[in-house]
Amino acid sequence: MADTPKFIVDCNVGKLARWLRLMGYDALFFDGDDDSEMVAVAKAEGRVILSRDTRIMERRLITSGRVKAVLIDSDQPERQIQQVVDTLGLDSRFRPFSLCLECNQPLAERGKDEVKDLVPPYVFKTQNQFMQCPNCQRIYWRGTHWRAMTKRLESLRGE
Ligand SMILES: [Zn+2]
Repeated sequence: MADTPKFIVDCNVGKLARWLRLMGYDALFFDGDDDSEMVAVAKAEGRVILSRDTRIMERRLITSGRVKAVLIDSDQPERQIQQVVDTLGLDSRFRPFSLCLECNQPLAERGKDEVKDLVPPYVFKTQNQFMQCPNCQRIYWRGTHWRAMTKRLESLRGE
């Protein structure tokens, strides 16, 4: 797993963060306005920069190859994720259901009885597997929204 890429997502392609997390890739969202800070974090944590900002690509750390960066071409989120998947050879089924889509934190498994009062009764009745974010406490299950997002991801495969 040492070669699994980790990301830092510039706010100009912010939607990419959720898609990468959905696949199970560690994706930090950068919403500061100091590019050098983003590059510094990328270098310190070994993260690949994803951005639409061509000026970032001219930075020495990046042109020298010490920090990896992908310049995103499109402004459409689905094209963007397609480009990242293709460029880096990502697996859209890498580790689904493992990271919080909001906080990028690893989810913890929860027993059905533990979430009884925390999810809608219909969900409790129909789902058997639950995960919780230790940071925001949000509970995840493989409901319809989840499936729809996964389907869109799978449609990217083999194009
Ligand atoms: Zn969370």
